[in-house]
Amino acid sequence: MDVRALVYERISGPEPVCLFAYDLVGLRRHVERTVAALPARCSMYYAMKANSAGPVLECLAPLVAGFEVASGGEIEKVRAVSADAPILFGGPAKTPSELALALKSGVTRIHAESVLELYRISAAAVDGGVVVEVALRVNLAGPLPEATLAMAGRPTQFGISEDDLPTAIEAATTLPGLRFAGFHLHSLSNNLSATTHLAMLEVYRDTVLAWERRFGVRVEVLDVGGGIGVDYGRPESRFDWEGFCAGLARWVATLPSHWREIQFECGRYLTAWCGRYVAEVLDVKTNHGVSYALVRGGTHHFRLPSSWAHSHPFTVVPVERWESAAPRPGIRDGVVTVTGELCTPKDVLARDAPVPLLRAGDVLVFEQAGAYGWDISHHDFLSHPHPEQVFMGGRGPDSPGS
Ligand SMILES: *Cc1c(COP(=O)(O)O)cnc(C)c1O
Repeated sequence: MDVRALVYERISGPEPVCLFAYDLVGLRRHVERTVAALPARCSMYYAMKANSAGPVLECLAPLVAGFEVASGGEIEKVRAVSADAPILFGGPAKTPSELALALKSGVTRIHAESVLELYRISAAAVDGGVVVEVALRVNLAGPLPEATLAMAGRPTQFGISEDDLPTAIEAATTLPGLRFAGFHLHSLSNNLSATTHLAMLEVYRDTVLAWERRFGVRVEVLDVGGGIGVDYGRPESRFDWEGFCAGLARWVATLPSHWREIQFECGRYLTAWCGRYVAEVLDVKTNHGVSYALVRGGTHHFRLPSSWAHSHPFTVVPVERWESAAPRPGIRDGVVTVTGELCTPKDVLARDAPVPLLRAGDVLVFEQAGAYGWDISHHDFLSHPHPEQVFMGGRGPDSPGS
């Protein structure tokens, strides 16, 4: 994808440049490769909360096994691009009407997060005259291998405590309208180490084997969650997916044959690289010895760096044109903190980033903005206009790169 060409095209417009650019060709290539490396019995679902834009879903629908959704709205977005893509419905607090919508929309399986929820799913299934598969999301007692953000092995609102498992399994195997299919264990996020991820799978296998024996249940599906990481500090370094898949194949060979499907539901790892956030520098100034570049845009479009408390890497697209009579402010061979247009000191995209030259009117390109970028941001705080969303290489009308 040629972001520079897009920037130079947009720079002549009446408003400062501010957009998300998505490379659907690169997305397709990356996801095809990722899925192709998986060993037998393993499948890849897309956790669409990472990026639920229609063109992204449309691009991924033929490539992944299905979609992992966590709301009625996400179910509707999937069904808008595919009438029959398999859907796994998770999420920590589902309403009865969402459960009814899920059943009407033909979801493949529901990930149950509590005993009460199993009763609610059962009631919805009986009401709809259907039987629905459930997998129990368990918050493992731990200990689990280290990663940046842990969803289990410690107190969180997610999943069923191992203490409640006897009651939950009893409910899942006896309530009308339910068919117990297996377990769902999504325990970490943004894990960068293939070795850690494989170690976690060892814990999963041993734990689930012990549950099968203890509770006399038969596991058909084990959902091992998402959580494959992206190294934002070093865009060139990647999670060793090939090495992971080699270890995964050895791990799969140790599983009982009736565990017919091992599901991954990745978000970040699939879509992080396909998106770039592009913002024009409106002003450059120094306050109390710190240099700031202030962009058209900010964390209300791209909250990811603020949410992870990191400094997001960017590149500078130099723009020579400067039509104003005012002196053009800039920094040469310095470090800059990049902030946005919001009236809060938390509106920071990058901190103390070295730049050879950065001037008002130049344009910044933040890489790895395709997952948890626009989707997690508080778009209407301060009521600035939204960024343009440009999908390149897709089938829609906004496809300059196709
Ligand atoms: C967010 C989430 C995912 C995706 O996580 P990534 O870290 O983006 O891969 C998968 N499963 C569940 C249940 C989630 O909440």
